[in-house]
Amino acid sequence: MDRVLVKIQGFDVDSFTFEQAVDWAYTHHGQIVTINPEMISAAHSNPEFSKIIKNAELVVADGIGVEIGLKILGHNIKRIAGIDLGKALIEKYTNNGKSVAMIGAKPGVVDYAISNLLKEYPTLNVVYSHDGYFNEDTEILDSVVSANPDLVLVALGSPKQEFFINDLKNKLPNTTLIGLGGSFDVWAGVVERAPKIYQKLGLEWLYRTIKEPQRFKRIFPTLPLFVLKVLKERLSK
Ligand code: UDP
Repeated sequence: MDRVLVKIQGFDVDSFTFEQAVDWAYTHHGQIVTINPEMISAAHSNPEFSKIIKNAELVVADGIGVEIGLKILGHNIKRIAGIDLGKALIEKYTNNGKSVAMIGAKPGVVDYAISNLLKEYPTLNVVYSHDGYFNEDTEILDSVVSANPDLVLVALGSPKQEFFINDLKNKLPNTTLIGLGGSFDVWAGVVERAPKIYQKLGLEWLYRTIKEPQRFKRIFPTLPLFVLKVLKERLSK
């Protein structure tokens, strides 16, 4: 199976289905980026971040914004929520006897997340875990490398997690690494995931904004501006 890429706002996005993305990640390793409009907008003013996204081994469209944008450009690609992909990877790796590392979220939260995941996947093998609040990356990076996990889940928020993974990936060439935003909070049960109906309609962002109104300024004006830019991109094609 080869990557089939489509372009949006200068970034390549994979057109894999959910199952194909899981298989590809399992067989190919490297950095997975779950791209959304806020990340694209941040990358446009941060060349280092832009390079990291462009060098990723897999880029999935996370969120309704990128799905709509791709539709405007004529590509029918279903979004893949990072939290769902992360969970499916945990399942796949665990079922195949592989090991996992988890770095991120507030102290204690990652431990709650692991104990909840263990209820679902009793053979889950977490060889390293750490909260996401540390000043010096080096020690944590070295510890992950010596633990030599097959799958690394990093939940530091974006772009912090993508930079962290970028610093790690060459030292772990046979490992799959993915940035997962606030997923550990959900798995730990400290943040509630949007009900299924919101997920189905692509309105998770609306639910999260209602629950955490401070997120409003992250979405506006980024989301409408993103759609406008994509419309411009469409017209110039
Ligand atoms: N976080 C962290 N270290 C930091 C900043 C944030 O571990 O220095 C965690 C935070 O506790 C939360 C996650 O990163 O669990 C970011 O969640 P958010 O929902 O903001 O993710 P995003 O929307 O950026 O994907």
